[in-house]
Amino acid sequence: MNKINIAIDGYSSCGKSTIAKALASELGYTYIDTGAMYRSVALFALRNGLIQNGKINTEAIIMALPDIKVTFKYNNETKISDTYLNGENVEKAIRQMEVSEVVSKISAIKEVREKMVALQKEMGKSKGVVMDGRDIGTNVFPDAELKIFMTADMDVRVARRYYELTSKGEHVTEEEVKENLSKRDYDDINRKENPLRKADDAIVLDNSELTKQQQLDFVTRLIKDLQLIKEEEQTQKKSLNVSVLSNLNF
Ligand code: C5P
Repeated sequence: MNKINIAIDGYSSCGKSTIAKALASELGYTYIDTGAMYRSVALFALRNGLIQNGKINTEAIIMALPDIKVTFKYNNETKISDTYLNGENVEKAIRQMEVSEVVSKISAIKEVREKMVALQKEMGKSKGVVMDGRDIGTNVFPDAELKIFMTADMDVRVARRYYELTSKGEHVTEEEVKENLSKRDYDDINRKENPLRKADDAIVLDNSELTKQQQLDFVTRLIKDLQLIKEEEQTQKKSLNVSVLSNLNF
């Protein structure tokens, strides 16, 4: 089948990236973590004093946008792409709680979104991309061939994120993680610019009680169904062409 774009949206810590990475590796597609792009802008702002005591200097961030270059580079060891901020590998730094605490305020800035969305659209031009985020199916790739909207129970999400952070050595409590996830979801759903919502044609995947393999099987099945529908359409088009030609008596 011709390459397609796959959009995966959903709430914070729903396991979007886990399934997106697995899918990309199975299909030989490129995985793009759009959250990492907003996290990189947030990290830049923190490092450059554009956020002080939780107060965001929006004007200064907008002015600094031309100096913020976010790129991805394939990592041969992990087999996925790492995020680079102005040439520095920031894969670890952007996952810290300090960044999570401010990122949804940064991602709500119109000019920040415009810059990131333009880059994301460019990356998907040649198809063969699995992109996860909050507005991929609704805004970045409204024509994506497959759109998944992921969700999971809050307790499950908290447990996953808590494990992820503590296993990396971060000192956080489950309450802090829960507060952060709830706050980010609230900000992402209620912002003016490209808020988080399910695209009308997205398929919901609630993975509260599903293993990674079960989720992967579910999405792979959807891709196969899509493939069958496309083939059917092609066959119908061909037979339509043949009957038009024969009616014209060539
Ligand atoms: O996916 P992740 O949790 O790393 O995303 C971090 C933040 O980036 C989200 O909470 C959201 O505010 C923002 N984001 C966004 N649009 C996207 C991806 C992420 O606004 N497409």
